Amino acid sequence: MSNLTFGIIKPDAVRKGHTGKIIDKILADGFRIRGMKLIHQTIKNAEGFYAVHSERPFFGELTEFMSSGPCVVLALEKENAVKAWRDLMGATNPAEAAEGTLRKEFAGSIGENAVHGSDSDENAAIEIAYFFSKLELV
Ligand code: ADP
Ligand code: MG
Repeated sequence: MSNLTFGIIKPDAVRKGHTGKIIDKILADGFRIRGMKLIHQTIKNAEGFYAVHSERPFFGELTEFMSSGPCVVLALEKENAVKAWRDLMGATNPAEAAEGTLRKEFAGSIGENAVHGSDSDENAAIEIAYFFSKLELV
């Protein structure tokens, strides 16, 4: 199990001014931030990132949303990081997200759900490399 995962504070949460509160909660939960930057993705970039979802009916909606405004990309370190970050995020659908999770507190819908997290160590490494150069990882 790796100690690194990849996260995004999605455009809905940045737009609503929740960036600082989410970063506070990440630090309070014991993560170390190894990489962090504010970016505004093109739709092509979002399509590349979510290529595994290209056959799903919500792909157009998802890539439009992810390129609709700035987001914060994060490389996060903690023991068992992938699971720890998904636990802090909560369920994809905020209606099913547990009390105390980021999606319970900040997500508006299943599509615009405040945060992204990798689903495996392998994808975490791919996703970190998609957004960060070596110099941007400390
Ligand atoms: P997660 O982000 O929890 O890993 P998925 O990998 O299944 O969830 O989906 C990726 C993203 O696609 C979700 O975070 C959400 O933004 C969007 N999404 C998932 N399911 C739906 C849906 N039924 N309708 C609209 N958007 C969705
Ligand atoms: Mg996923």
